[in-house]
Amino acid sequence: MNAEIIAVGTELLLGQISNTNGQYLSKQLTHHGVNVYKHTVVGDNLLRIRQAIQAAAKANDMVIITGGLGPTEDDVTRNALAEEYDLDLVYDERALQQVESFFQERNQQPSDANRRQALYVQGAQVFQNHTGLACGMVYKHENTMFILLPGPPRELKTMFEKEVDPFLAAQDDTYAFLLSRTLRFYGIGESALEARVHDLIVEQTNPTIAPLAGEDEVTLRLTVRDTDRKNAEKQLDNMEAEICKYCGEFLYGYDDDTLFSKVIEHIKINGWSLATAESLTGGQLGSSITDIAGASEVYQGGAITYSDESKQKQLNVDAATLQQHGSVSQACAREMAEGVRSRYQSDVGISLTGVAGPDDQEGHPPGTLFIGISYPHMNRVYERHLSGDRETIRRRAVKEACAWLLN
Ligand code: ATP
Ligand code: MG
Repeated sequence: MNAEIIAVGTELLLGQISNTNGQYLSKQLTHHGVNVYKHTVVGDNLLRIRQAIQAAAKANDMVIITGGLGPTEDDVTRNALAEEYDLDLVYDERALQQVESFFQERNQQPSDANRRQALYVQGAQVFQNHTGLACGMVYKHENTMFILLPGPPRELKTMFEKEVDPFLAAQDDTYAFLLSRTLRFYGIGESALEARVHDLIVEQTNPTIAPLAGEDEVTLRLTVRDTDRKNAEKQLDNMEAEICKYCGEFLYGYDDDTLFSKVIEHIKINGWSLATAESLTGGQLGSSITDIAGASEVYQGGAITYSDESKQKQLNVDAATLQQHGSVSQACAREMAEGVRSRYQSDVGISLTGVAGPDDQEGHPPGTLFIGISYPHMNRVYERHLSGDRETIRRRAVKEACAWLLN
């Protein structure tokens, strides 16, 4: 089964929005064992959409079109399909009712343009829109299955999950399940990880194991094909367990997890709250944590204490500590973590102090890093030596802090 995805929208061609629908659909189809061979982007133009339909039909078993199903003049996707194959457009009763009710509830009358959203090509099966008004549809022309879906990403996703997914799963033939799982490792380099699981990678065909190097971390993507979803998942579980024999201590998460989302999760699971004290990273840790939705449940706040003076004033770091050990020191990191924990009345305080470079500081080379973590009943300090330029050191420092918190 091979497919082409056509995204309709002049705004895509103009670069005003990115084709995230295309990416989403590719992922979904891959899960269904459909090979996506081509992506096409076409403007809101009847003739050009027809040309795209013609070309795609010649080469594919499945053509998915997203966008151009709305009420406006430029929404012509269904017309293009109807004209191309000389089909009538007819109203879907339920979709029409949805349009009527939508406007009635607002004491308005739908226009004909609004009603057009309930039109489908005769002979098609209609997909209900659970979050909007334009109905989707699947229409078979000769050997090609056309699937028309709305453009707004939320409508597209809901329709795919609730309507298209079950539809595809019910197609009896070759829909092997293709499942992927990404294992995320931190604290081990790409080549070191590959060396540990080399034999597995070479021997394995199902699931396959693909190493991918990310920024400061390494991932292994496991992909399995099976006719049965449960079996597929089981195979992934088994392969993961096998891999973890060799490098499980570095595994921190899966798929879309990040060190930051895991930190939030970790703090949440323990019923804690968190505050941050940052010197060399200037707020990057707090910023990365607050990037995660749901951070507000556990994150109290943070202090950026770049100067010695602010470390004393804001975090109560002892002047004697700074004089004796300097700000790039275990002692300072510990006092910063304790200080921020008490200042924000959080259960856990985490601090970062070190040298981002390019110059040495207090006799320490760039990359010197102290991470302080203050828990309710104990304090920990970790000393690290990172490599890289200033930007890299700061970015890595933030991740190191998270990794040690998760440790
Ligand atoms: P509407 O009822 O909103 O007109 P529609 O089905 O006609 O829906 P479009 O008009 O093509 O869809 O797109 C509506 C909006 O959805 C676009 O302005 C854009 O924000 C978003 N969108 C459309 N296509 C894509 C795409 N391929 N990737 C991401 N976003 C998209
Ligand atoms: Mg539109």
